[in-house]
Amino acid sequence: MRTVYLNGDYLPETEAKVSIFDRAFLMADGVYEVTSVLGGKLIDFDGHAVRLERSLTELDMRSPVTKDQLLEIHRELVRVNGIEDGLVYLQITRGAPDDRDFIFPDPETTPPTIVLFTQNKPGLADSPLARKGIKVISVDDLRWHRRDIKTVQLLYPSMGKMMAKKAGADDAWMVMDGYVTEGTSNNAYFIKGNRIVTRARSHDILHGITRAAVLRYAEEAQMEVEERNFTIAEAQEADEAFITSASAFVMPVVEIDGVALGDGTPGPRALRLREIYLDESRKAAI
Ligand code: PMP
Repeated sequence: MRTVYLNGDYLPETEAKVSIFDRAFLMADGVYEVTSVLGGKLIDFDGHAVRLERSLTELDMRSPVTKDQLLEIHRELVRVNGIEDGLVYLQITRGAPDDRDFIFPDPETTPPTIVLFTQNKPGLADSPLARKGIKVISVDDLRWHRRDIKTVQLLYPSMGKMMAKKAGADDAWMVMDGYVTEGTSNNAYFIKGNRIVTRARSHDILHGITRAAVLRYAEEAQMEVEERNFTIAEAQEADEAFITSASAFVMPVVEIDGVALGDGTPGPRALRLREIYLDESRKAAI
């Protein structure tokens, strides 16, 4: 049985209980982060901690722990659960007032709820899917307009994945005003020649930690980066496409709305970026 962390305590997963009045349960009033673990070490912990702080600030929430404490909790959970490869999920909510109310509770009397748990994923970096590539479909982006804040409002992304599954695909790219925003739980890119194209950062997308790293490594792969809006049609005509996230790393995309890219197998540049990302991330892991 997993050991999880809840509000200062390490507990067996079945003993960790949260109030029915918790704001995240009633109003999706909470933020989260997912940090991957490779070889027992945390990948880009710092990036996730900085984004967490930003999400909290944007929502007028306070962190119940310091960054150092957060690192300590992550490491302790990885240790006690014996995680070699996997994920650490973290969620902070606006806490549990004693009744349901739209008005934010006073943080002095209602402390935030903090929960962390691990997910064991042996061979996470050696995914067979990365050798095959994924198929995506496009769906309307019906989410709220502060996607840069990593909230637990994941109903629409979850519906997007279900639409993809029904269509025999692996994931969905969301489209707003004719342009791709991002994947349901990842950032979206295509490659044409030696150029990587991805949407620029704004309130329209989550500022992926993996995105930042991969764009930093583009030069090492002798590639240029262009941050701009793009359409599904443009991506369908690309040489290659891929997605990035903390749990999928760099994952090649081989089909968009039924149109195969190139010969329908993962492209060499996406695979090279994946290799560089994994190498560099392992080196910098803590
Ligand atoms: N966009 C969305 C909507 C996401 O949910 C995620 C993953 N949480 C990402 C992008 C990728 O972000 P990261 O690389 O930080 O995991």
